[in-house]
Amino acid sequence: MDFNLTPEEEAFRGDVRSFLDEHLPPESDRGGMFPLRWAKVVREKRWVGFSWPRDVGGGGATVMQQAILKEELSQRAAPPLGTCIMGLAWVGPAIIQHGTEEQKRQFIPDILDSKYQWCTGYSEPAVGSDLAALQCRGVRDGDHYVVTGQKIWTSLAEWAKWMILLVRTEVGREPKHEGITCLLVPMDSPGLTVKPIRDLAGHSFFAEVFFDGVRVPVENRLGEEGKGWQITLGALANERSGIAEVAGLRRRLDRLRELARVRTLDGRPALEDARVRRRLAEFHTRISAMRFNGLRFLTRQVKGESVGSETSINKLHAARLEQQLAEFGIELQGSYGALTGGSDEAVAGGHWQKQALGWGTTVIGGGTPNVQKNIIAERILGLPHD
Ligand SMILES: Cc1cc2nc3c(=O)[nH]c(=O)nc-3n(C[C@H](O)[C@H](O)[C@H](O)COP(=O)(O)OP(=O)(O)OC[C@H]3O[C@@H](n4cnc5c(N)ncnc54)[C@H](O)[C@@H]3O)c2cc1C
Repeated sequence: MDFNLTPEEEAFRGDVRSFLDEHLPPESDRGGMFPLRWAKVVREKRWVGFSWPRDVGGGGATVMQQAILKEELSQRAAPPLGTCIMGLAWVGPAIIQHGTEEQKRQFIPDILDSKYQWCTGYSEPAVGSDLAALQCRGVRDGDHYVVTGQKIWTSLAEWAKWMILLVRTEVGREPKHEGITCLLVPMDSPGLTVKPIRDLAGHSFFAEVFFDGVRVPVENRLGEEGKGWQITLGALANERSGIAEVAGLRRRLDRLRELARVRTLDGRPALEDARVRRRLAEFHTRISAMRFNGLRFLTRQVKGESVGSETSINKLHAARLEQQLAEFGIELQGSYGALTGGSDEAVAGGHWQKQALGWGTTVIGGGTPNVQKNIIAERILGLPHD
């Protein structure tokens, strides 16, 4: 198996690096007008929506170019390419794949220009991992769907202008994911209420969303009625090698090594302690394994083959590493590990503590570790269904 890049891909990586040398200052110099400048140059470069077709305003990049770009950006802790988080991650790809020409004209340019936020209405109070069991109802009434029910954990709901929503349009259908439809819903629709939820770190990043007879025009349906499940899965199957996450984890490990160099343990730099070095070496090995897995997935995608259940291996690694790197960062601080960002004495402004509290997105988003283990057990190892 050859993991080397072709000369064209190496040249592309070189171009990306030169561009970043010119336009991306060190993290300490990214204040003032930098965010606006960055937003403008990356948009002009067509890096926002880099893999989207050029005729909708994207960059028309290959899977490999996209992975190289993500890796380079992640290595340098670059700010995101565009701030329309969910629009760029999956709503845009879903609209490009399944939307009408009118929907593409209405939404894609705004997503690329990060004009507003989208939120995702999938999870419900009694439905998370087993999403296909969702209950929120959409009942056809002439040229509208009338939506009644509740969603929960809806990130960005308070700030979003639109929601991509999954509703049940057919009850009792087997298999149950067949009766689900995808709707694009304005967040200022009459009958829609948002109630923020406070998380463990004290932020209100997500919310409950209530629908009380919300009328959604039929032209806001994405794809066919009853085909919402396929749309959801397809949109998430974009570039899934996880190479960018690897670069992010490597950066975090570098930071941890630096912390071990400056912190002391029994009067000596922690880095001189064999136990600390062993832990760092173990993290390095696991991150390297993730990278090689990612490169295997990428190779398959480049050949036009599908990558399925195996990506769960990297998701599981990433979730565990994310938590364990943060916990080790706190451990290395000794008693200072008990302080948070608000304290003058906190190490690195409480960076590791924030990391430890912010694990939810990586660990739970896209399927919890238990769900990943089930996928690996059943679909890769062929063990009996849970
Ligand atoms: C930070 C954050 C942001 C989120 N943002 C959004 C959002 O924007 N939109 C949205 O729709 N949702 C969002 N979610 C919700 C997220 O998708 C769900 O929390 C996730 O799917 C898990 O569902 P649940 O919370 O209902 O847990 P459950 O599915 O009830 O799981 C509870 C526990 O049981 C375990 N479990 C479940 N099924 C099995 C099984 N078959 N075998 C073994 N163990 C199992 C799980 O691993 C977990 O530990 C967000 C969550 C977080 C933490």
